[in-house]
Amino acid sequence: MTEPTRVLAVLGRGVVPADTPFVRGDDLGIVRGDGIFETLHVRDGRPWLLEEHLNRLAESAARLDLAVPPRTALVELVEQAVAAWPAHVEGALRLVCTRGPEAGGDPTVFANVFPIAPDAVRARRDGLHVLTATLGVPARLRPDTPWLLGGAKTLSYATNMASLRWAKANGADDVLWVSSDGYALEAPTSSLVWRRGSTLYTVPAKDTGILAGTTASYLLAHAGEIGFTADEALVTPAELQTADGAWFTSSVRGPAPIRTLDGTPLAYDPEVTARVRALLGFPLPPDPVG
Ligand code: PLP
Repeated sequence: MTEPTRVLAVLGRGVVPADTPFVRGDDLGIVRGDGIFETLHVRDGRPWLLEEHLNRLAESAARLDLAVPPRTALVELVEQAVAAWPAHVEGALRLVCTRGPEAGGDPTVFANVFPIAPDAVRARRDGLHVLTATLGVPARLRPDTPWLLGGAKTLSYATNMASLRWAKANGADDVLWVSSDGYALEAPTSSLVWRRGSTLYTVPAKDTGILAGTTASYLLAHAGEIGFTADEALVTPAELQTADGAWFTSSVRGPAPIRTLDGTPLAYDPEVTARVRALLGFPLPPDPVG
């Protein structure tokens, strides 16, 4: 099968060839990272949890005081992009809104659909080796420091990407950011979920300024369907060592079990992970071995 190609849809223009140049060199999204985005899972030819992602985009826009187009225009843009993607292929859709050109003018708004990295799909089955790394701020600081943009999904992801490179350079797959007062917060591109007995937990976004994960929220809201209750709590890495399992959850990778934290194996129950994955509707990689 040939690799699916990338799709590009630009607000006001619709789907254009994916290599079309369309962003100005003075766009504040490029020169300042001043803009917001959402990444969605595309399954069976549909964007998953579109409403939830558009709600979070609106929340990010408010935190950045950024004007974004009306929701109907964003939905139409997403629909155009997804319609150009082969329905039988799992994909990722990134919806981007920047503040637009420095000289003034409309925000730059576009959507890309692209294939999911094989590593991300494999992590659903094989799990992740994770290192803790400090984020350098106390857990409860960001709700009171709005300029730090806690809770907003901004285009300024260079620190997030640097964290992942640091993990890889140190032989791991991912990072668990920890507050300066010792609490586990989130990963650079995913939320932390853990299990203790029959309860699934995640970190409270409102109190900590982490990003409110749409996948973790869906999982906890539907936990009853797979026999669990749900709650929010602050947790330390040491406490995770005694939990009954932990995952990083995100829109495209889905739920990936954390197999080791700082080199120590965490509890791992493949049956529970399978239940979580089925509830969230993410397929496993096609090759069961290797
Ligand atoms: N936290 C951060 C910093 C993220 O970038 C992401 C991914 O977008 C998440 C959490 C998980 O959010 P979601 O489940 O909505 O993809």
